[in-house]
Amino acid sequence: MPLVSMNEFLPKAKAGKYAVGQFNMNNLEFAQAITEAAQELNSPFIFGVSEGALKYMGMEFTVAIAEAAAKKSGLPIALHLDHGSSFEVAMKCIRAGFSSVMFDGSHYSFEENIRLTKEVVKAAHAMGVSVEGELGTIGGVEDDISVDESDANLAKPEEAIRFYEETGVDCLAIAVGTAHGMYAGEPNIRFDIIEKVASAIPVPVVLHGGSGVPDEMIKQSIAAGVGKINVNTENQVACTQTIRDVLNKDAKVYDPRKYLTPARKAMVEVVKSKIVLFGSSNQA
Ligand SMILES: [Zn+2]
Repeated sequence: MPLVSMNEFLPKAKAGKYAVGQFNMNNLEFAQAITEAAQELNSPFIFGVSEGALKYMGMEFTVAIAEAAAKKSGLPIALHLDHGSSFEVAMKCIRAGFSSVMFDGSHYSFEENIRLTKEVVKAAHAMGVSVEGELGTIGGVEDDISVDESDANLAKPEEAIRFYEETGVDCLAIAVGTAHGMYAGEPNIRFDIIEKVASAIPVPVVLHGGSGVPDEMIKQSIAAGVGKINVNTENQVACTQTIRDVLNKDAKVYDPRKYLTPARKAMVEVVKSKIVLFGSSNQA
């Protein structure tokens, strides 16, 4: 199966009240682990690729790995640019084979965010590519972009609804209290904001910073209208912790396969648990 746009599965997710996971791809092992987990549970999913990860892996390898995953698994998989910062980078990704892009204009003024997002939507939709927009700023650190938690502005429901109506995005990330990275305590998620927005627009709300959010809060978010949840940090932690354990136990290890195999296995378990929690098993 070729890579698909998020519209192949997000409308179904919203109607069926479950969420599809975006799992970020940072290297080949991440891609293999995510695909294996989704295959076992017969779930659609989204490969998220940040601009930093794109720089790390290179455009050709990124697209080739995602295409290989789709071909091998037969699952509906979207290759999605995460937090795209400009029209240009979004177009570059689409031309290279991405089936979905996020344009994050949350650092611009509200009106400017609408104007820029609209341009991306127009160009992307003409090529059958789905678009995610962002409103309000999500706290934490994503790649090299750090947003102080106190500066993270929650989305205003009326603005989010107008943003959707004017831009026509296929899903909308709104700042509701989650943050990128791991949490020190429990996040304070504003389910009321999710509900107000999700009930007024036909597309799902996206929850960024899904790593480390307690299961009950994830379930509540989905019930309120979240249809896409982003997970990256938990896989990074599982991968690195496993490698650290292996190397600490045996100083003589030099074959990367000796620590990458268990690291990959650890990520399979993380992704499987998220797919079950999000309710997307058997929805491929
Ligand atoms: Zn994010």
